[in-house]
Amino acid sequence: MEITGSNPVGGTIPPPRVCYPSPVPFDIMGIRIPTLQQENVATRCRGCSGVIEGTPFRVNVMDIVATEAARSWADTPTINPGPYQFHADPACARAWMRDRGYLFCRRSAVRELMRPIVVPGAPPRIGLCDGLHRGDHELVPA
Ligand SMILES: [Zn+2]
Ligand SMILES: [Zn+2]
Repeated sequence: MEITGSNPVGGTIPPPRVCYPSPVPFDIMGIRIPTLQQENVATRCRGCSGVIEGTPFRVNVMDIVATEAARSWADTPTINPGPYQFHADPACARAWMRDRGYLFCRRSAVRELMRPIVVPGAPPRIGLCDGLHRGDHELVPA
């Protein structure tokens, strides 16, 4: 937050700089600042980086479950479980997957809990599915 003191006679006086977090409320040059600007603390969507008004839609990614054999730690694709916060529009979560190169199972929907599916390859890719359908996954670029 940029606060500049303004003095019509002497011009603009820069505000004092503090090297510690300001308590709220606090005073700058005798002006009481009762709150921080909402924009400084707003939740931003991981998909479109817009500010989220109200409750964000949160997506968690489950741990990757070991399959047939133990992998070495070096070649296991890792994925941060989140939660990731988005607008309620599934397009925002899809945009986030697309940015990261994840695949999306088109037989699933964007839900609060997504399961990662490791797609073998070099490098392995990760697909995300809600795990609620029967049969094979149909992974497509998100
Ligand atoms: Zn968004
Ligand atoms: Zn699926």
